[in-house]
Amino acid sequence: MESLPKLELLKKEIWNFPFCLFFAILSLIMEVFILGTGGMMPLPGRHLTSVLLRREGDQFLFDCGEGTQVSLRKLNLKWKKITTIFISHTHADHITGLPGILMLSSQVERTEPLRIIGPPKIREYVETSRNVLDMYVNYEIHVQEIQEPEKPQLVYEDEALTVKAVPLRHSRVCVGYVLEEKKRPGVFYPEKARAAGVPCGPLWSRLQNGEAVTLEDGRKIEPGAVVGSPRKGRKFSFVTDTAFQPSLAGQVKGSDLFICEGMFERALADSAREKKHLTSSQAASIASKAGGIGKMGLIHYSPRYTERELKLLLQEAREIFPDTFLCRDRMKIELPPHSN
Ligand SMILES: [Zn+2]
Ligand SMILES: [Zn+2]
Repeated sequence: MESLPKLELLKKEIWNFPFCLFFAILSLIMEVFILGTGGMMPLPGRHLTSVLLRREGDQFLFDCGEGTQVSLRKLNLKWKKITTIFISHTHADHITGLPGILMLSSQVERTEPLRIIGPPKIREYVETSRNVLDMYVNYEIHVQEIQEPEKPQLVYEDEALTVKAVPLRHSRVCVGYVLEEKKRPGVFYPEKARAAGVPCGPLWSRLQNGEAVTLEDGRKIEPGAVVGSPRKGRKFSFVTDTAFQPSLAGQVKGSDLFICEGMFERALADSAREKKHLTSSQAASIASKAGGIGKMGLIHYSPRYTERELKLLLQEAREIFPDTFLCRDRMKIELPPHSN
């Protein structure tokens, strides 16, 4: 008979432990998955440009080239967790994966709406694809066309983050995207919470969100007693398909991760300028001028380069901005939270 309370206690502990662990982990996770790295055309082993950012379970997709679906599957990323798709421009190498992604809906249950944000013509593209393919879609699709894409502007906001579109100079209307977390709650000190008699559970979550809580014994606990000061949010920038534009530095300044087109080597700068693309050294000079960039990942490689030859693009960029790396298909990059 005496063992029953112990069993109850054990059950409670078992419940509490994963919750507390989950609570601690939940507020930390931001990961970026490179789904494709190619420009112009897909190659064996190199899908077209697409990047996914996952934050606390929500997934944001940036561009959707051919092969995006394959990478999502290989990485075991759930399509239905994608809440918003940001499209840079309507060149085929950035949008041909979109109809296939939308058609996945006929194979998975999805009730949440999907938002697609992009420059003018994106609505026409989505609607035409749906009509011609007679696509069955069991959820709402909200298409948001960016008005006046030549001006930097806020295109998305939720309680945790904002996304701004920034104008690029390309042969078609094109925008880059800058995602910024709002200031995040301060560090939560479990030991202080326990010492104050706050049981692990929803009260911890409320305190971390800046709310005072009242305990069963009537004592009121202020968040400042168990939580440190607010921390800087993380910043992620995605820039592809643009002529060199030094002013971009101001937009991407302070990015923890700057994903930038590095399509050509320096010797092909004239051709890059003509086609309105960037060399890897130009990407690096934007990163260097910006300041505060954690690291820069090159993407949207010309198909003229084999995987081995991409080293040249990396070398040239590193001469200007050493914290450069080559994005590779299905690479994952973690962005740890700032400690203050
Ligand atoms: Zn492109
Ligand atoms: Zn393009």
